[in-house]
Amino acid sequence: MEIIKDPAAFQKQSQAWRAEGLRVALVPTMGALHAGHFKLIECARQMADRVSVSIFLNPIQFGPNEDLAKYPKTFEADAAGCRERGVDAIFAPVPGDVYPPGFQTTVHVDGLTSPLCGRSRPGHFDGVTTVVLKLLLLGQPSVALFGWKDAQQLLVIRRMARDLNVPVEIMGIEIVREADGLAMSSRNVYLKPEERREAPRIHKGLEAARKAFQAGERDTDKLLAAARKPIEECPLMRIDYLEARSLETLEELKEAKAGDTLIAAAVFLGSTRLIDNIRL
Ligand code: AMP
Repeated sequence: MEIIKDPAAFQKQSQAWRAEGLRVALVPTMGALHAGHFKLIECARQMADRVSVSIFLNPIQFGPNEDLAKYPKTFEADAAGCRERGVDAIFAPVPGDVYPPGFQTTVHVDGLTSPLCGRSRPGHFDGVTTVVLKLLLLGQPSVALFGWKDAQQLLVIRRMARDLNVPVEIMGIEIVREADGLAMSSRNVYLKPEERREAPRIHKGLEAARKAFQAGERDTDKLLAAARKPIEECPLMRIDYLEARSLETLEELKEAKAGDTLIAAAVFLGSTRLIDNIRL
């Protein structure tokens, strides 16, 4: 496994693989890898001849009051986990090489970035699409894998690739959870023990909505009320958003439709913001 810091060297390696006719998969991450990331990597390994994992804590997708400075960094363990799973290359650039002096280009996806995390985190998705397009151009993958954990991000990146004719398949991978249902996240390490105990309430709420849907309920006000209940019962939690939206357009839905409904939540537990979702 190679560890490549220089963007030009990574691009050269990727181009050489493609020139040999090899199928390349890319898994973009911000590091602090956990079982969710490793699931993406394992899927990539099964689908491609060469697997690249990028580990880059992308400063431009963080707002001024967000957790960029304290975001966990575990590069040695990340590299060991990648090596164990047969990753061919880790791309781990420094911010100054990704955004050299004079960098002045932004990739902006419109409508899909307005609601949900786009409303709570202004500019976040511009940072995401800008870095992901760069990673796709450097890594030259036939397929890039993203988690449904960040459902809006996945939809935004798919739209960007489609709108800009980027020759890549954007594949979504199911959310990996802890045994108690909490969606795995690099940010879970921020939780105090009492917050960690309560955190599965988010998943519990979403599953209550799913159960109501399966029992025939279609009114999203009622589904969201079911989802809200276990979360609002916890005084440590504050809902940032909990909404039902079309998976296609992210428009708000009054009525849930099988195959086209995303129920997405962002919840503060103390100062930690957790996101989760289900698809109906
Ligand atoms: P991050 O390092 O948080 O930027 O995540 C890198 C990729 O891993 C993104 O595509 C995430 O959606 C995905 N990911 C993060 N957590 C999970 C999880 N629990 N299950 C599945 N995918 C995940």
